[in-house]
Amino acid sequence: MWFRRDLRLADNPALVAAVEAARDDDADVVGLYVLDDALWSRAGANRLAYLLDSLRALEEACDGRLVIRRGDPHDVVPAVVREAGAREVHVAASHEPYGRRRDDGVEEALGRDGAALVRTGSAYAVSPGRLLTGSGTPYRVFTPFRNAWLDHGWPSPARRPHEIPWAALDGDDLPDGPEPTAHLPRAGEEAARRRWHDFVRDGLAEYDAGRDRPDRAGTSAMSVHLRWGEIHPRTMLADLAAAQHDGAPSDDVATFRSELAWREFHADVLHHRPAARTRSVRVVVPEDSWTTGEQESRWFDAWAAGRTGYPFVDAGMRQLLATGWMHNRVRMVVASFLVKDLHVRWQRGAEHFMAHLVDGDVSQNQLNWQWVAGSGFDAAPYFRIFNPVTQGEKFDPDGVYVRRWVPELGDVPGRAVHQPWKLDAPPADYPEPLVDHAHERRVALDDFQRAKD
Ligand SMILES: Cc1cc2nc3c(=O)[nH]c(=O)nc-3n(C[C@H](O)[C@H](O)[C@H](O)COP(=O)(O)OP(=O)(O)OC[C@H]3O[C@@H](n4cnc5c(N)ncnc54)[C@H](O)[C@@H]3O)c2cc1C
Repeated sequence: MWFRRDLRLADNPALVAAVEAARDDDADVVGLYVLDDALWSRAGANRLAYLLDSLRALEEACDGRLVIRRGDPHDVVPAVVREAGAREVHVAASHEPYGRRRDDGVEEALGRDGAALVRTGSAYAVSPGRLLTGSGTPYRVFTPFRNAWLDHGWPSPARRPHEIPWAALDGDDLPDGPEPTAHLPRAGEEAARRRWHDFVRDGLAEYDAGRDRPDRAGTSAMSVHLRWGEIHPRTMLADLAAAQHDGAPSDDVATFRSELAWREFHADVLHHRPAARTRSVRVVVPEDSWTTGEQESRWFDAWAAGRTGYPFVDAGMRQLLATGWMHNRVRMVVASFLVKDLHVRWQRGAEHFMAHLVDGDVSQNQLNWQWVAGSGFDAAPYFRIFNPVTQGEKFDPDGVYVRRWVPELGDVPGRAVHQPWKLDAPPADYPEPLVDHAHERRVALDDFQRAKD
């Protein structure tokens, strides 16, 4: 059983398949995790530190028998198969560009030794690529995708195998890893399940009304657990149905289910269009629209450090640095600010996010950036530009969120915190606005019009 982004024992169909195959052969199961240098070098300190914590939890759940090996999976997996005398390697299918290439390569290498890569299930309720429109093409628009996804449905969660005959095989020790730059949440399958049950009990009934409020803990914070597969979305969907049956408000359940559908939609888009990882699906402004040179560096650095002079943007960027997570509403606002106010390409922002997010996930990150930038399939129209002041006033009406992350503004009362430049005595250590939003908005709209013309 080769674990990748499914670091759990419950509701893991690939693990069930491995255990059943072993039972038929009267054999043991090797639980393997490969610390892949290609991913290790790209993941960012927070995601790596979290991964190591999650692997420690998985190792414990596997009675200390999880085999960790470091290296290139094309070499490591066939080597472990030879050592164990195995004939099958069980995995959940990968759908991201790198994972698909890697798995095809490993499958070929295993084939040379007479062994097989067996793919069962994926990280999604409905595997990317499965749903097609009536004319047989991939979905480009979210709502019809979600309707087809709901109609298609998903199987019940897979049962957790009772006893797993883990094989004893030598492995490498887990490395210490980098020091995280953020305070990380608790990792592992048990922490994921606890967090989820707490949310269903205490948070679900407020979700629809509260999910856009970064000043409150109104969302589930499940993205990191989903990222590492410490829980499967199918388990969550089954629990949502049960909660609704037990009286949870249907609006809240439907909205939460719809957010999970967004996750599946983005994975489906990237499955069909792997190039969307780095390239805009649609070109929306002329090439000369982008800020370049010294100004680009200066503006980008101020954005990344949370020093743009727009408090709602700065609070979000500092939350990201401090916790490795940012509220969804604020992710949209800071992304819009980078692309449409500072005219910096979405790819640079996406890269910064991937370096810091603990839930950083290539399909969700890149496609959400494209959604905000207006360059994706079913994206927000380019001319919808978030106003960083009114967004703050609407979704952080008392300024609580801003004051939590921007201590320089800690003494500014109420919503006045969203426009410190209007104060009689603006705090000296907080920067003036880097750009004038009204002006940059017009520039972005002109660029968009030029592209249309
Ligand atoms: C620019 C940008 C970058 C993003 N990058 C990532 C990323 O790298 N990884 C990631 O998991 N999410 C990403 N998101 C989506 C979203 O912001 C996070 O999933 C969400 O904030 C996680 O918090 P939560 O679990 O409390 O969400 P909840 O509101 O509790 O939502 C429940 C679950 O639904 C899914 N979900 C919610 N919103 C979205 C969305 N817009 N797109 C896709 N799935 C969603 C997530 O799996 C989430 O855990 C990004 C959004 C933006 C605008």
